[in-house]
Amino acid sequence: MLKELELHGVLIKLVQGDITRSQTEAIVNAANSSLLGGGGVDGAIHRAGGPAILEECKQIRAMQGGCPPGQAVITGGGKLKARHVIHTVGPIWRGGRNNEAGVLAEAYQNSLALACDYEIKSIAFPSISTGAYGYPLEEAAAVAIKTICDFLARKSDCPLTEIHLVAFDPSTMAAYSESLSNCSPQKT
Ligand code: ADP
Repeated sequence: MLKELELHGVLIKLVQGDITRSQTEAIVNAANSSLLGGGGVDGAIHRAGGPAILEECKQIRAMQGGCPPGQAVITGGGKLKARHVIHTVGPIWRGGRNNEAGVLAEAYQNSLALACDYEIKSIAFPSISTGAYGYPLEEAAAVAIKTICDFLARKSDCPLTEIHLVAFDPSTMAAYSESLSNCSPQKT
Protein backbone atom coordinates (compact mmCIF):
# COMPACT_ATOMS: atom_id res chain seq x y z
CA MET A 1 0.00 0.00 0.00
CA LEU A 2 1.53 3.32 -1.12
CA LYS A 3 1.78 5.63 1.90
CA GLU A 4 3.97 8.47 0.73
CA LEU A 5 5.14 10.21 -2.38
CA GLU A 6 7.60 13.03 -2.93
CA LEU A 7 6.49 15.49 -5.54
CA HIS A 8 8.21 18.75 -6.53
CA GLY A 9 10.18 18.70 -3.28
CA VAL A 10 7.11 18.16 -1.09
CA LEU A 11 6.43 14.95 0.81
CA ILE A 12 2.78 13.84 0.65
CA LYS A 13 2.23 11.42 3.51
CA LEU A 14 -0.83 9.30 4.34
CA VAL A 15 -1.35 9.00 8.08
CA GLN A 16 -4.02 7.10 9.96
CA GLY A 17 -5.22 8.63 13.22
CA ASP A 18 -6.60 11.68 14.96
CA ILE A 19 -5.69 15.00 13.31
CA THR A 20 -5.83 16.85 16.64
CA ARG A 21 -2.62 15.02 17.60
CA SER A 22 -0.82 16.00 14.42
CA GLN A 23 2.68 17.44 14.81
CA THR A 24 2.41 19.55 11.67
CA GLU A 25 2.63 23.33 11.85
CA ALA A 26 -0.96 23.68 10.67
CA ILE A 27 -4.00 21.44 10.59
CA VAL A 28 -7.04 21.93 8.41
CA ASN A 29 -10.52 21.86 9.87
CA ALA A 30 -13.51 20.64 7.85
CA ALA A 31 -15.66 23.45 9.24
CA ASN A 32 -19.14 24.62 8.35
CA SER A 33 -19.98 28.05 6.97
CA SER A 34 -20.97 29.42 10.36
CA LEU A 35 -17.44 28.86 11.72
CA LEU A 36 -19.09 28.23 15.09
CA GLY A 37 -18.05 24.61 15.44
CA GLY A 38 -19.95 21.39 14.84
CA GLY A 39 -19.57 17.64 15.04
CA GLY A 40 -16.97 15.31 13.55
CA VAL A 41 -13.48 16.63 13.08
CA ASP A 42 -14.66 20.21 13.69
CA GLY A 43 -15.89 19.33 17.18
CA ALA A 44 -12.72 17.34 17.91
CA ILE A 45 -10.48 20.28 16.92
CA HIS A 46 -12.41 22.80 19.04
CA ARG A 47 -12.44 20.41 22.02
CA ALA A 48 -8.71 19.72 21.80
CA GLY A 49 -7.72 23.30 20.97
CA GLY A 50 -9.84 25.02 23.61
CA PRO A 51 -11.96 28.19 23.45
CA ALA A 52 -9.31 30.47 21.89
CA ILE A 53 -10.02 29.01 18.45
CA LEU A 54 -13.75 29.68 18.67
CA GLU A 55 -13.08 33.23 19.86
CA GLU A 56 -10.99 33.90 16.76
CA CYS A 57 -13.60 32.26 14.54
CA LYS A 58 -16.23 34.59 16.02
CA GLN A 59 -14.04 37.61 15.22
CA ILE A 60 -13.65 36.44 11.62
CA ARG A 61 -17.41 35.91 11.45
CA ALA A 62 -18.01 39.43 12.72
CA MET A 63 -15.73 40.79 9.99
CA GLN A 64 -16.77 38.71 7.01
CA GLY A 65 -19.93 36.88 8.03
CA GLY A 66 -18.77 33.27 7.98
CA CYS A 67 -16.95 31.24 5.36
CA PRO A 68 -18.63 30.15 2.12
CA PRO A 69 -18.05 26.62 0.76
CA GLY A 70 -14.68 26.36 -0.98
CA GLN A 71 -13.13 29.25 0.96
CA ALA A 72 -10.68 29.08 3.87
CA VAL A 73 -9.73 31.20 6.90
CA ILE A 74 -6.93 30.87 9.44
CA THR A 75 -6.75 31.05 13.25
CA GLY A 76 -4.22 30.11 15.88
CA GLY A 77 -4.11 26.58 17.20
CA GLY A 78 -4.94 27.27 20.85
CA LYS A 79 -3.83 24.30 22.95
CA LEU A 80 -3.08 22.12 19.91
CA LYS A 81 0.46 21.20 18.91
CA ALA A 82 -0.29 22.84 15.56
CA ARG A 83 0.31 26.60 15.65
CA HIS A 84 -2.41 27.31 13.10
CA VAL A 85 -5.79 25.94 12.15
CA ILE A 86 -7.00 26.56 8.62
CA HIS A 87 -10.79 26.31 8.57
CA THR A 88 -12.26 25.42 5.22
CA VAL A 89 -15.77 24.47 4.20
CA GLY A 90 -16.35 21.56 1.86
CA PRO A 91 -19.45 21.00 -0.27
CA ILE A 92 -22.50 19.09 0.94
CA TRP A 93 -22.94 16.11 -1.42
CA ARG A 94 -26.14 16.52 -3.43
CA GLY A 95 -25.69 13.75 -5.98
CA GLY A 96 -22.58 15.03 -7.74
CA ARG A 97 -24.05 17.35 -10.36
CA ASN A 98 -23.94 20.51 -8.32
CA ASN A 99 -20.26 21.35 -8.73
CA GLU A 100 -19.38 19.38 -5.61
CA ALA A 101 -16.01 18.37 -7.10
CA GLY A 102 -15.20 21.98 -8.03
CA VAL A 103 -16.01 23.25 -4.55
CA LEU A 104 -14.07 20.42 -2.89
CA ALA A 105 -11.03 21.20 -5.08
CA GLU A 106 -11.32 24.90 -4.14
CA ALA A 107 -11.36 24.00 -0.44
CA TYR A 108 -8.02 22.19 -0.83
CA GLN A 109 -6.55 24.88 -3.12
CA ASN A 110 -7.53 27.79 -0.88
CA SER A 111 -6.23 26.00 2.23
CA LEU A 112 -2.90 25.35 0.53
CA ALA A 113 -2.68 28.93 -0.76
CA LEU A 114 -3.33 30.26 2.74
CA ALA A 115 -0.63 27.95 4.13
CA CYS A 116 1.82 29.33 1.54
CA ASP A 117 0.87 32.93 2.43
CA TYR A 118 1.60 32.21 6.10
CA GLU A 119 4.87 30.48 5.23
CA ILE A 120 3.70 27.24 6.80
CA LYS A 121 6.04 24.33 6.13
CA SER A 122 3.86 21.39 7.11
CA ILE A 123 0.10 20.91 7.03
CA ALA A 124 -2.36 18.09 7.76
CA PHE A 125 -5.75 17.67 6.08
CA PRO A 126 -8.71 15.57 7.21
CA SER A 127 -10.91 13.97 4.58
CA ILE A 128 -13.05 17.04 3.90
CA SER A 129 -16.80 16.47 3.25
CA THR A 130 -16.76 12.67 3.63
CA GLY A 131 -18.42 12.61 7.06
CA ALA A 132 -21.63 14.49 7.78
CA TYR A 133 -21.49 16.14 4.33
CA GLY A 134 -21.83 12.74 2.63
CA TYR A 135 -19.27 13.00 -0.20
CA PRO A 136 -18.40 9.48 -1.47
CA LEU A 137 -15.05 8.47 -0.07
CA GLU A 138 -13.21 7.29 -3.20
CA GLU A 139 -14.35 10.28 -5.24
CA ALA A 140 -13.36 12.71 -2.52
CA ALA A 141 -9.93 11.09 -2.15
CA ALA A 142 -9.37 11.37 -5.90
CA VAL A 143 -10.28 15.08 -5.89
CA ALA A 144 -8.14 15.75 -2.80
CA ILE A 145 -5.04 14.11 -4.20
CA LYS A 146 -5.37 15.40 -7.75
CA THR A 147 -5.86 18.94 -6.43
CA ILE A 148 -2.81 18.68 -4.18
CA CYS A 149 -0.65 17.23 -6.99
CA ASP A 150 -1.72 19.95 -9.43
CA PHE A 151 -1.15 22.64 -6.81
CA LEU A 152 2.38 21.39 -6.18
CA ALA A 153 3.15 21.35 -9.89
CA ARG A 154 2.23 25.04 -10.13
CA LYS A 155 3.45 26.38 -6.80
CA SER A 156 6.23 28.90 -6.69
CA ASP A 157 7.72 30.65 -3.68
CA CYS A 158 5.91 28.44 -1.20
CA PRO A 159 7.89 26.99 1.71
CA LEU A 160 5.65 23.92 2.15
CA THR A 161 7.68 20.73 2.48
CA GLU A 162 5.19 18.27 3.95
CA ILE A 163 1.49 17.57 3.45
CA HIS A 164 -0.22 14.93 5.57
CA LEU A 165 -3.56 13.41 4.63
CA VAL A 166 -5.04 12.10 7.85
CA ALA A 167 -7.41 9.15 7.52
CA PHE A 168 -9.60 8.55 10.56
CA ASP A 169 -10.44 5.01 9.46
CA PRO A 170 -8.92 2.27 7.27
CA SER A 171 -11.36 2.77 4.38
CA THR A 172 -10.29 6.40 4.03
CA MET A 173 -6.67 5.28 4.12
CA ALA A 174 -7.31 2.74 1.34
CA ALA A 175 -9.03 5.37 -0.81
CA TYR A 176 -6.11 7.79 -0.39
CA SER A 177 -3.56 5.11 -1.19
CA GLU A 178 -5.37 4.15 -4.39
CA SER A 179 -5.53 7.79 -5.53
CA LEU A 180 -1.93 8.52 -4.61
CA SER A 181 -0.73 5.78 -6.89
CA ASN A 182 -2.66 7.43 -9.75
CA CYS A 183 -1.17 10.81 -9.06
CA SER A 184 0.10 12.30 -12.29
CA PRO A 185 0.67 16.00 -11.78
CA GLN A 186 0.68 18.41 -14.72
CA LYS A 187 4.19 19.44 -15.59
CA THR A 188 5.06 23.11 -15.19
P1 ADP B 1 -17.72 17.03 6.85
O1 ADP B 1 -18.84 17.80 7.47
O2 ADP B 1 -16.81 17.92 6.01
O3 ADP B 1 -18.18 15.80 6.15
P2 ADP B 1 -16.84 15.47 9.18
O4 ADP B 1 -16.07 15.99 10.34
O5 ADP B 1 -18.21 14.99 9.41
O6 ADP B 1 -16.77 16.64 8.09
O7 ADP B 1 -16.01 14.31 8.49
C1 ADP B 1 -14.86 14.50 7.71
C2 ADP B 1 -13.90 13.36 7.94
O8 ADP B 1 -13.18 13.58 9.14
C3 ADP B 1 -14.54 11.98 8.09
O9 ADP B 1 -13.77 11.04 7.34
C4 ADP B 1 -14.40 11.68 9.58
O10 ADP B 1 -14.30 10.30 9.82
C5 ADP B 1 -13.08 12.37 9.85
N1 ADP B 1 -12.77 12.67 11.26
C6 ADP B 1 -13.60 12.80 12.32
N2 ADP B 1 -12.90 13.08 13.44
C7 ADP B 1 -11.58 13.13 13.07
C8 ADP B 1 -10.36 13.35 13.76
N3 ADP B 1 -10.32 13.61 15.08
N4 ADP B 1 -9.19 13.31 13.05
C9 ADP B 1 -9.20 13.07 11.72
N5 ADP B 1 -10.32 12.86 11.01
C10 ADP B 1 -11.50 12.87 11.67
